[in-house]
Amino acid sequence: MNKTRIVLFGFAAISLIFMAAIGSKKNIPPAKQKQGVRKIVIDPGHGGSDYGASGKYSHEKDVSLAVALKLEAEIKKQMPDVEVYMTRTTDVFDHVRIKADKANAAKGDLFISIHCNDAPPNRHSELIGYKTVKYKKGKKWKTKEVPQYKTYSTPSPAKGTETYIWGVDKNDDKERALRENESIYSDSAAKEDLSDDKDQIIAISLRMQQYAERSRNLAFTVQDEFVKVGRVSRDARQRAVGIWVLQAVAMPAILVELGFISNPEEEAYLNSESGQKELSESISRAVKRYKTTIEAKISGNSGSK
Ligand SMILES: [Zn+2]
Repeated sequence: MNKTRIVLFGFAAISLIFMAAIGSKKNIPPAKQKQGVRKIVIDPGHGGSDYGASGKYSHEKDVSLAVALKLEAEIKKQMPDVEVYMTRTTDVFDHVRIKADKANAAKGDLFISIHCNDAPPNRHSELIGYKTVKYKKGKKWKTKEVPQYKTYSTPSPAKGTETYIWGVDKNDDKERALRENESIYSDSAAKEDLSDDKDQIIAISLRMQQYAERSRNLAFTVQDEFVKVGRVSRDARQRAVGIWVLQAVAMPAILVELGFISNPEEEAYLNSESGQKELSESISRAVKRYKTTIEAKISGNSGSK
């Protein structure tokens, strides 16, 4: 996978465009600041007939659910004022579109999708000898030595954690999700279509940028907490495929790849009680830091950390 770091570029460009737009207009409503982090949606990846990635003896759908349930318990313990909504608590399949709808209907302030990574095995071939082969040249038979190989595969050594946010190129989709869920956030009782209201369009765009910023901050914080407990960090990234749900939910959103189920050492860790505990506690600590920072900002306290 390429080592694309998060690109701040797109956001900077968008910010400039909107700052220019704001400069030309008055009375633009600020991006609605919600009251911190009150409800967190946890999405255990895959489920039911969708196994996700598989290791030697375990499946992603089961590991993601086990860690998600531990994360739910840990968040409730560490942040009693936070409500947790799970997109699934059992081994069932829902299309990601349904999961996104559930998250939006739950009116979450934050969306955390839990997954495991997977890398294809490495293929090797080893010379095991030569075989004498006859062939015809003109009217004469000749022989030649042909090398013989044995091919085999070994698990990819890829390991470590990654946390994703949606790609910059998906900002339009994220904005659409925010617009479609505007009634969730609107204080006004009027639920008419506001999509042509320029002030509203700008307000939603600003909120989208705020959500991107928050998601990025949380992604880096999660990786930071993983590193503290000795996990290999493959960075906070943006990715184009497989994370549709992140741009479909109208809230800050991250997708955590806990580790590589294709790596035997990590598969053992991902399935162990201690590994799952360490992973869920790390994510919970990151969420707590994120929550503290946001709530400090909202209350006008500059002492955020
Ligand atoms: Zn997955």
